[in-house]
Amino acid sequence: MGRKIVILLGHPGVGKGTQARAIVQHLEIPQISTGDMLRDAIAKKTTYGREAKEKMDAGELVSDSIVNGIVSERIKRNDCKKGFILDGYPRNVSQAETFRKLVKNGDHLAVIELSADSERLRKEKRLVGRLMCPGCGEIYNEFSKAPKEDQICDLCGRQLIHRSDDREELISERFRTYHEETSPLIQFYQDLGVYHQVDGMRPIETVTEEILKIINNSVAAVYDRRRS
Ligand code: AMP
Repeated sequence: MGRKIVILLGHPGVGKGTQARAIVQHLEIPQISTGDMLRDAIAKKTTYGREAKEKMDAGELVSDSIVNGIVSERIKRNDCKKGFILDGYPRNVSQAETFRKLVKNGDHLAVIELSADSERLRKEKRLVGRLMCPGCGEIYNEFSKAPKEDQICDLCGRQLIHRSDDREELISERFRTYHEETSPLIQFYQDLGVYHQVDGMRPIETVTEEILKIINNSVAAVYDRRRS
């Protein structure tokens, strides 16, 4: 059986990380978030951490060579044998082309775009209100998904943090980067016949159910085709 590979696409703040964390529990394959790995590299002051920080603080993409390198190394690990969920990668067509070469015959690929209304994302303060747990990675929002105790993670008790790029003045630039560089991936994956769309503005649990339905149906369709 090939690997189950799920790519989550979507606007900054639409909930890719939240959904990836939810579906990990159901599919028992790991979440690979390039954003989290880059933040980790920055915290550990690795060589590419410095370059990554500069780009992230400007709302721009980190260089393809860095992110392609960290993803290709990460997916070689044992826990990715049955598949993985990519959240935040690929982010442009060049990364998608590189990643395509890492998909093997027999792997099952589903690309799911969480569609968003960017004005609503701003109004609902999805980015400026976001809080993250530096321990377990749980994601909250001060306005819509507050932790039970102020600024404290419900799951592991650590002090929550604001991401350094979740600043009002960076939002337009991050949205622009998404439109210019990432949204062409929709066409790229439509052409490959593996693209699906889910309305990402609905409640978290509804979006999770939709995603799981798509993954289960499309995996079943591939196996039906192989049997016939
Ligand atoms: P995220 O956590 O996915 O919102 O990513 C935060 C920031 O990390 C982005 O704004 C980019 O600067 C950088 N980043 C994450 N993933 C990628 C990627 N695949 N390619 C380039 N830059 C990335």
